[in-house]
Amino acid sequence: MQLAHLLLRHARLNPDATAVFYGSAHWASHAEWAARSAGLAQRLRDAGLAPGDRVLLFMRNHPRYLEVLWAAWWAGLVVVPVNAKLHPREAEWIVDNAQARWGFVTADVAPEPLAGLERQVDVESAEAETLLAPVADPFAVLVAERAPDDLAWLFYTSGTTGRPKGVMLTHRNLMTMGLTYGIDVDPVAPSDSIVYGAPMSHGAGIYAIPHLMAGARHVVPASGGVEPAELFALGQQIGPLSTFAAPTIVKRLVDHAEAAGLTPEDAARAFKTIVYGGAPMYLADIERALRVMGPRFVQIYGQGETPMVGTALSRQVIADTGHPRHRERLASVGVAQTPVRVRVADAQGHELPTGEIGEVLVHGDSVMAGYWRNPEATAAAIRDGWLLTGDVGCLDADGFLTLKDRSKDLIISGGSNIYPREVEEVLLTAPGVAEVAVVGAPDAEWGEVVVAFVVPLPGAASTPETLDQHCLTQMARFKRPKRYLLVDSLPKNNYGKVLKTELRARLAPV
Ligand code: AMP
Repeated sequence: MQLAHLLLRHARLNPDATAVFYGSAHWASHAEWAARSAGLAQRLRDAGLAPGDRVLLFMRNHPRYLEVLWAAWWAGLVVVPVNAKLHPREAEWIVDNAQARWGFVTADVAPEPLAGLERQVDVESAEAETLLAPVADPFAVLVAERAPDDLAWLFYTSGTTGRPKGVMLTHRNLMTMGLTYGIDVDPVAPSDSIVYGAPMSHGAGIYAIPHLMAGARHVVPASGGVEPAELFALGQQIGPLSTFAAPTIVKRLVDHAEAAGLTPEDAARAFKTIVYGGAPMYLADIERALRVMGPRFVQIYGQGETPMVGTALSRQVIADTGHPRHRERLASVGVAQTPVRVRVADAQGHELPTGEIGEVLVHGDSVMAGYWRNPEATAAAIRDGWLLTGDVGCLDADGFLTLKDRSKDLIISGGSNIYPREVEEVLLTAPGVAEVAVVGAPDAEWGEVVVAFVVPLPGAASTPETLDQHCLTQMARFKRPKRYLLVDSLPKNNYGKVLKTELRARLAPV
């Protein structure tokens, strides 16, 4: 069994209904999708690409993304989806590191040829039409034999602390992720539609797998990104959408719903489920999201090294407002997903008692095979089969995991540990605050001091004094920021994560 079989299965079972939409227009049925992917698989094979060879995808979200992914798997190849916001020189570094042979691009993302590729195909060109021309009988095109532990996807980390690393994801890893989605995240019906607003090179694209498993529908917005008005309209036209969204995207959807005067019932007509994760979701933000858009949220916690599979906070737990620990649970990332065990350990890897803070470890079939051609990094990340996530958190008696921060974001000031997230949660409840990020700045006396970057709401009169007054009433004095910097926006990567390394660099002594 390998991922290509998922497409064959639905090309047989459910050949004719629209499986892929581009905007609200028909792009492909399962049979058409299979005929194009089989055609490309055959042509890649004829061109000499052999199972295990790497194929790069460096493009904005596009229906061809799905066709190329499944064509590559059909031919037994390994896909290397690259963040479309990377500079072409950074993409070339990945081409070289992965030794990718062919690349599929859109011209907006890669206007020039990338060095190192044997062939670069613009998916909107006549050349792509020919390469993806449907074959008459897709079932006659051999699906490459792949073992469960063979590579399917090389996922490059964002590399905010050094060069990106290629996370080796196998067919088993991605099958495991797909199968557990219906159990831990959201059951999927064939009439459901997943919309790709967030980049398909990351979690949003990975969620194509559970939706193809269920024979559901795939929607690529015409804009290729997240335009809240467009997504709400698409949901009204096609039927309620499911989507994966980083907390910053959730915020944009909620802002839109509020500004447009939409009710939770309106939101229910546009969205079935919004899965959020990838970065901290603050309590104040999820409470507002639930108020404005109703109970259609599920949280997941994972990382490229165990894609989309770590913990999940279900819709039911989120809705259980009568539970005595509801707010604590809402501020957590939920419980271990079905195929994995999650534990919190000390620096030596020993499991810590309930409630104690340590590093989060994950064990199970979703955990990567290692880093591509980087045995040292693999040995540092996987110990006795347990993935060391680099995230710090604690488990409660019911198994709910609360994340504190990435270990590298921890601030140590005057010998005390301060978790930026705790300070951020408090500042977000101050009047007039839209967004906030807290980092440590080097300090001769304290080692580090707490600095808050604050984006005020439009027209708000926040000042360092009012913010400090708010913190004084809510938290221990030693955790209070020593400086408040009011800024227009926070630097974020393409996946919506705040770039704390960049904020720290602004504070570094010159
Ligand atoms: P990536 O490998 O790019 O998906 O990034 C994974 C990292 O994002 C994790 O190690 C966490 O630090 C963070 N992350 C993922 N999901 C969540 C979540 N639900 N809440 C807070 N942080 C998260």
